[in-house]
Formats: sequence, C-alpha cells, structure tokens
Amino acid sequence: MREKCGIFATLSENSAKKAYYALLALQHRGQESAGISVWRGRIRTVSGLGLVTDVFRGKELAKLRSNLAIAHVRYSTSGSLNETQPLETECCGMRIAVAHNGTLTNFRPLRERYEKLGVRFRHSVDSELLGISFLWHLRETGNEFEAMRAVFGEVKGAYSVALLFDGKILVARDPVGFRPLSYGTGDGHYFASEDSALRLFVEETRDVRPGEVFLLSENGVESKALARESHHHCVFEYIYFARPDSVLDGTNVYSARVRMGRELARESPADGDVVIAVPDSGRAAALGFSQESGIPYAEGLIKNRYIGRTFITPGQFNRELKVKLKLSPVKEVVAGKKVVLVDDSIVRGTTMKRIVAMLRKAGAREVHVRIASPPIRYPCYMGIDIPTRHELIAAFGGVEKVREAIGADSLAYLSVEGLKRAVGREDLCLACLTGEYPEWAFRF
Ligand code: SF4
Repeated sequence: MREKCGIFATLSENSAKKAYYALLALQHRGQESAGISVWRGRIRTVSGLGLVTDVFRGKELAKLRSNLAIAHVRYSTSGSLNETQPLETECCGMRIAVAHNGTLTNFRPLRERYEKLGVRFRHSVDSELLGISFLWHLRETGNEFEAMRAVFGEVKGAYSVALLFDGKILVARDPVGFRPLSYGTGDGHYFASEDSALRLFVEETRDVRPGEVFLLSENGVESKALARESHHHCVFEYIYFARPDSVLDGTNVYSARVRMGRELARESPADGDVVIAVPDSGRAAALGFSQESGIPYAEGLIKNRYIGRTFITPGQFNRELKVKLKLSPVKEVVAGKKVVLVDDSIVRGTTMKRIVAMLRKAGAREVHVRIASPPIRYPCYMGIDIPTRHELIAAFGGVEKVREAIGADSLAYLSVEGLKRAVGREDLCLACLTGEYPEWAFRF
C-alpha cells in the first residue's frame, strides 16, 4: 500500500480546468491514475487509470464546473492498482474526498481501532484513514482545525493531503514535512506537491510548513500552524523525484543536483575522457561532475521520451523491457573513450547493469560509474516505493560487490555528508541511506 503521488487543490474560478493543467505538470509524480474531485452541492469525482490525458479527454471537465477542486496523480504497487484518487469515503454521516501523497506508518492498527468502533472502510489504501480520522474528529470537535490537530496526534507517517467535504477544502502537511507541498496565491488559492505546477497560475509561491493547515471555502482562506516536529524532508525529492525547476523548502532542485555532481567529483575523481549522464535525472549531476573535474560533458545516451520512468513501474518484467526500449548509446560519443557515467542513484541495479553493457557494446574502452547519492540500503516507509531490502543491490555487501554486479571498471557513491552539503540543509530524511528513521513517524 505504498504510494508516490502528486496532489493539487484550489479555490479559484474554473478550478477543474486548472486542476487538469496542474496534473499535467505533476505527471512525473505518478502515471498510473489521475483524478479530480469538485464541490457542486456534493462531491463529484472523475478519475481513472492511466495518464492525465487518458483519463480526461475533454467532456469530463465540463461536468466538473466549480470553484473548489482537489486532484491527484498516482502510481502504486501492483496490489492496489485499481485504486484511484481522489478517493471518496464516508464516516459519521459525512462524505469526503481524499487526495494524499505519502504513506501512513500506523495505518493497520489505527484502521483496526476504527473498525472496532463501527467504522466501515471502503478502500484498501491507507489514504482513506486520513478522511475517516478527520471526519471522526470533526464530529467530536465541530471545528476543522481542531479535527486536524487530532489527526496529527494519531495518524503517523508521511502525508501531504487535500480533503474535500461540505463545500470546503482542507490542505495539510504532516508535522515532519516528509513530502513537499507548496502554496501560491493570486487570483485564487492554489496548492501543489511542487511549486513548478503552481507557477502555471501564480508568480509568488511558498512552502506549506510542516504541521500547517489551510481551510478553503467560499468565504476565503484561513490557515493555522498546528503542530511542528523536527523537519525531515525526503532527500530523494532532491535526488530524483522532483522536477528540476521546482523549489523545495527553499532549495532549487536543479542547483542541488549540480552541486551533488560537484561534490561527487571532489570526493571520487575519475580518469575519463568524457562525462555522460543517464538521462534525464542524472543530467544535472553529470554537468556538475564535468564542471568540477574539467572532463567534457556530452550526450552519450539518448532517451526515448515516450517510455515512462523505469523505477516507478510495477513488476520486474515491465522494468527490464522498458530499459531496453528507453535508452540507446551514441557510438560517436563513447567509442574508444574512457567514459564517466553519472546517475542519480542505483536501486536494483538492473538498469545500470544494462547501460554499462550497452556502452561497452557501443565501443566504450572503460566505464567508470559515479552515483550522485549514497547507496540505498534500507526500505522506505514514508511514501516511496522501495519495497524490500533484498531487492536493493547495495543493501548487503559493499561498493565492490555492486561494481562487480553492474560490470563497471570503477564505482563510487556520494557520501551522506557530501549529499547534505549539496542540498544545503541538515533537516532531511535520510532513512533509506542510513537506516535512521525519523522518530515521530513511528511514535504510536
Ligand atoms: S526513507 Fe528515503 S525515500 Fe523514504 S522519505 Fe526518507 S529519504 Fe525519502
């Protein structure tokens, strides 16, 4: 039940149309389902499996005229593939739609507790619990902010969430701030997982602070800071997931990735003739490596843009086939050369092994792999699909074992300290790299 998603919410004119455009801008965060819910006297939702353009082909948006909309793009593990969001559920005589990015760490015990209290769950995904918990506490307190304060007290894990109910939208970021969430205002109020999606509509944006809650209604917007734990922003948003033009908690993703490459070149120089990237996410780090090392950068691998990201596709068969389909080497760049190949991370190693072999076949004399993040050794319980330790190539054994497995002449990773310097902040979640999980997410 793990998700990695993008969310959007707005109080503005033509909200559904704007949600559609925002989802297009967030498509990189999830490609398996898309959906929009609006308030039209009651909740109306259109959602389905596939890309945003598969789900919304024109007529659907006409049914969703409203000033209040929440929206979602999602990818899932195969167990819950048919679940789309925003998901609708009911509790205490009220109906609610939920758009959630993250994973709840105490989902099972909390769901069981609510079931014993007589609550009927309609979905298999953890996101429903946020809606149930909120409605339960709303009935108890009669106040949206107090209800959300209670949710913060009992629901642990990662959640940037938008809830649509009773002519209102509540938007919140969990007290630790694992997943990103931005706010922009202009001719309306807009929230999105990344500010690059907000800049379609407004110039000025800022991060929603961990534990901050917004309530939107036809009467306007109200916000409160309700809870704050020590901040643990997911470092993988900077390394891999977020768009390079996004600014997350004050740090531009592209600049951070270039600095990762520079740090990597300082820590682990390579004797090479050319620096190439695994496109697209390794590109900024490769540029940084080239700038710092003085080794020229070239485009040595060409990506088929119409194939999705391999890391975020369920099932080993799909992943392997897609690697073959999506990348091909430029012989003229790599033949006879000592190639420095830079990527942002290695997860299972399948992709990297194929790329190294592909470069050798294209005539590369040597292939030196440099990875702009530390080895991923531990699973994530906070919203990223890194399923089990045994699937992680670096989980057991050292760097030399990974080098052998991928068939490179040399291999080096960026250190944790180098990564922190590159991002420019200390308050990061690094759990999948260090095994040290933020305590709040497991305090239950
Ligand atoms: S464990 Fe890793 S992937 Fe998960 S939230 Fe922390 S840094 Fe991100």
